[in-house]
Amino acid sequence: MEQVIIIGTGCAGLTAAIYSARANLSPLVIEGNQPGGQLTTTTEVENFPGFPQGIDGPELIMRMHEQAERFGARFLYGSVEEFDHRDGINWIKVDGNWLQTRALIIASGASARWLGLPGEKELIGHGLTSCATCDGAFYKNVPVCVVGGGDSACEEALFLTRFASTVYLIHRRDTLRASKIMADRALAHPKITPLWNTTLASYLTDEEKKVRGVVLQDLVSGEQRELEVKCVFVAIGHDANSGPFAGKLDIDKKGYLLPKRGVEMNLPGVFAAGDVADQIYRQAITAAGQGCAAAISAERWLAEQS
Ligand code: NAP
Repeated sequence: MEQVIIIGTGCAGLTAAIYSARANLSPLVIEGNQPGGQLTTTTEVENFPGFPQGIDGPELIMRMHEQAERFGARFLYGSVEEFDHRDGINWIKVDGNWLQTRALIIASGASARWLGLPGEKELIGHGLTSCATCDGAFYKNVPVCVVGGGDSACEEALFLTRFASTVYLIHRRDTLRASKIMADRALAHPKITPLWNTTLASYLTDEEKKVRGVVLQDLVSGEQRELEVKCVFVAIGHDANSGPFAGKLDIDKKGYLLPKRGVEMNLPGVFAAGDVADQIYRQAITAAGQGCAAAISAERWLAEQS
């Protein structure tokens, strides 16, 4: 029986791990499908306090990981498949094995959303991706496109200007949702061409079943036209990774965990932190703050039980 299990190793999970470990609770941290979470797919993080020159997302995560390990956090690779709460104990099934814990901190984050177009799944990794940092360097001196109008889309587009000949920024409206600083930077870049009021109608593939272009749909005129691109980077937001908790924990209509108070969930000893429970702020620093709050709440809850 564990005292504390933490699901997730993004900013929220690792901060919870640092706090729980420093409280001598020797937390077991489940790494999940994407160890390190979303920051591992970003480049420079400019708004995390304490790093005036910015810091690489993966490096920030690596440092948090090291800090948690230093105080005795233990890490386990694996995906959480199921959750149960029986006889006052929280159970999670990780890669086929059930683990028991008194307190459970869920910081399982959110995953990239896709457009839902025909054949999309098969194209992922063949000219379709959601991670410019991972795949951008494969597309040197060729045209690519980014779909979306938020901070992620702008960040991806700006990163891709290092490699691609042209980056088309395809957005379904005529104004970006991104923060002003990111939007201004993207729109001022000579390699970025915005395509407003536009969505993708379909993907075009070559004989090797790789992306060779897209069919664009102009949402004002209704017209369609082909655009030649070697890769499509989809940056249209994320879905909360709350699947294993459906039906057991309170979840809102969009799939986000819904704490009843602060970070406390509707079952005893269960706490939620970071993007899996936050559709408002979704920042590295707010996730870290919620991870800290969840660890402190778990520690207090455990103390009350003994
Ligand atoms: P987001 O802010 O939710 O933006 C998603 C974008 O995708 C929106 O422009 C949306 O269009 C568009 N979209 C959604 N579904 C679509 C669909 N089916 N087809 C076409 N377009 C679609 O998501 P995000 O950019 O991933 O950002 C998430 C959070 O992380 C935000 O709080 C953001 O500030 C933060 N973030 C910050 C930084 C930074 O500070 N450097 C970097 C990345 C992310 P509409 O605008 O029409 O809704």
